[in-house]
Amino acid sequence: MTNNFIHDAIDRDIAQKTYGERPIYTRFPPEPNGYLHIGHAKSICLNYGTAEKYGGKFNLRFDDTNPVKEDTEYVEAIKADVAWLGAKWDKCLFASDYFDKMYECAVELIRRGKAFVCDMTPDEIKNNRGTLTEPGKESPYRNRSVEENLALFEAMRDGKYADGEKCLRAKIDMASPNINMRDPVIYRIVHASHHNTGDKWCIYPMYDFAHPLEDAIEGITHSLCTLEFEDHRPLYNWVLESLEWPMAPQQIEFARLNLTNCVMSKRYLKALVDDGVVTGWDDPRMPTIAGLRRRGYTPEAIRAFCDEIGVAKGNSLVDIAMLEHFIRADLQPKTESRHVILDPIKVEIVNWPGDGLEEVELENNRDDASMGARKVPFGKYLYIEREDFMEVPAKKYFRLFPGNEVRFKGAYFLTCVSCEKDADGNVVGLKCTYDPETRSGSGFEGRKVKGTIHWVEATTAVPIRVRLYDYLFESDAVDPSKYQANPNSVREVTAMAEPSLADAKDGERFQFFRQGYFIAGRELGAEYPGGPDRGDRVFHRIVDLKSSYKPGK
Ligand code: ATP
Ligand code: MG
Repeated sequence: MTNNFIHDAIDRDIAQKTYGERPIYTRFPPEPNGYLHIGHAKSICLNYGTAEKYGGKFNLRFDDTNPVKEDTEYVEAIKADVAWLGAKWDKCLFASDYFDKMYECAVELIRRGKAFVCDMTPDEIKNNRGTLTEPGKESPYRNRSVEENLALFEAMRDGKYADGEKCLRAKIDMASPNINMRDPVIYRIVHASHHNTGDKWCIYPMYDFAHPLEDAIEGITHSLCTLEFEDHRPLYNWVLESLEWPMAPQQIEFARLNLTNCVMSKRYLKALVDDGVVTGWDDPRMPTIAGLRRRGYTPEAIRAFCDEIGVAKGNSLVDIAMLEHFIRADLQPKTESRHVILDPIKVEIVNWPGDGLEEVELENNRDDASMGARKVPFGKYLYIEREDFMEVPAKKYFRLFPGNEVRFKGAYFLTCVSCEKDADGNVVGLKCTYDPETRSGSGFEGRKVKGTIHWVEATTAVPIRVRLYDYLFESDAVDPSKYQANPNSVREVTAMAEPSLADAKDGERFQFFRQGYFIAGRELGAEYPGGPDRGDRVFHRIVDLKSSYKPGK
C-alpha cells in the first residue's frame, strides 16, 4: 500500500506510543442494509491494507444498530464480498452484541450528569436545534435530576412509552457552533424486532453514540471513515472523553470514492433492484462487488485500482476508465485468446479443394509465447464479423471489400470476389478466393496486406450466448435523483465461437480476439450470496479492449 496522510498519523502514534503496546487496529463497519459497492471496496482495502501494513488487526463489524432496515441476507452477502476481496478479518462482530454495554454507558453518562431524558417530540427537537447562525433552545427537561433521569431511562427500556414519546439526549451545549453538539439524541424508542436481538430491546442507540463505543470496545485504534463524518468527530470524542475511556480510538476521515457512470448509494441501488431495473444486486451492470464479480472483475484488479486512487482529504470523481484499465491490466497476461464472431456473416472459399478441414495454429496470448498455441479448424466455410466487410469501402478501410485481399489471422490471405444479399439488400454471404501459398506457419513471409481479421470455421463453430454491456448511468450520474438508468445497458447476441469454448468452465476468462475480455458465466445470479450462478451458459463481456485511460496521467 502506498503511504498516505492516515499512515503518517499512525506513524506518529507509534512513535509517541499513543496506544502503548497495543496493535494498530482498524475495522470495516458496514450497515447491513444492502450489498457492498465499489466505494466500500476502497474503505475495505484502506482498513485492511493499513492493518496489514502495520502488522495489526482488522475487524469486520456489522453496524446493525438500526432495527428496521437490516436483513441477514445482507450480512451473508457482505461477508462473502469482503472475503472475496481478500480482506481477512480477525473477528466478525455485530454492534448489536454490545447493546448491554451501550446501555450501561448511557446510564453512566446520566450518572455523570451528561445525559437527560427529554419528552420533546422529534419535531420539537428539530425545531429547537437552531441554525448555523443562531444557537438552539435548551430543552425544558434538561435539568432533570440524575435520579429522575435514571428512572425514566429504565422505564424507556422497559417499554413504558411509545415510539418518539421520550428519548435520551447528551447534555452538551445548545450554543455550540457545531449543530451535532447541541444536545444530540443518543437513544430513541423503536418498538421493532431486531434481526439479532429479537424483541429484547425497544430502545436503540443512535449512530453517533454507538459508533465510538463499538470502536472502543473492540480496541480499535484508528477509526477510518468518510468525510461526511468530519462534523461528527467532536461528538465521537465527547462520548469517549465523557466516559474517560482510556486510550480511546481516534476517528480520521478520508474522501469517498465517486466513480463516473456509477451511483454509490445502497439506498439507490436497492431501489434499482426493487423496481426490477436490474435483475438483482449481482446484476453484472451493478457497481456492487457482487455485480463486478459476476461481470468477471478480479479482486486483484479492484485492489490495484483502490491502491492507485489512494486516499485524499478532498472528494473527487474518478473516471471509470481507470477501473477498466486495471481489469485489462490484470487479465491481459493471464487470459488466453479465442476467436468468436459476435455478428457473423458467412464466407465461402470458392477455390477451396473439396470440403475438407485443415488445422491451423493460433497463439494463446500474443504477448507471451510461453502460453502456447492451440489448433483450430479452417476450411471452405467461415464466419467473419459483419463489420469486417464493406461493399463500398470507406476511406482507409483495409478489411474485406470486393477485390481486396486481407489476412485471415493465423491462416491464409483471402480476396473477396462478391457478396450475396437478401431481398432487403442485407449482405448474407461472401465469396472469396484464397491463396494456398500464403499459409502462416509454412514459412510464408511474402507480400504485405494491410488488414488482418479473425474468423471461425463454420461447420465446427459453436453458437454461444454473449452479453454485451453498456453503462447503467451517464458519465456524471453522481446525484441519483437526477438520473434514470439506461434501459439499453445489456444486449444479448448469439455468437459463433471456435469449438473449444463449448468446454469453458464456470468463471473461466478469455480474451475474445479484438472484442474484449469475457467470462463464462450463467444467465442467472447466485441463489445465495457467494454461491454458484444458475441457468444456462452465457458469456459476459467484462470490458472491451479500447482504453481511454493512460496510467500516470
Ligand atoms: P451507502 O450510502 O452506500 O449506504 P454508507 O456510508 O451508508 O454507504 P455503510 O455501510 O455505512 O455505508 O459504510 C461502511 C463504510 O464504508 C463506512 O466507513 C463508509 O464511510 C464507507 N464507505 C461507504 N461508501 C463509500 C465510498 N463511496 N467511498 C469510500 N468509502 C465508503
Ligand atoms: Mg449508511
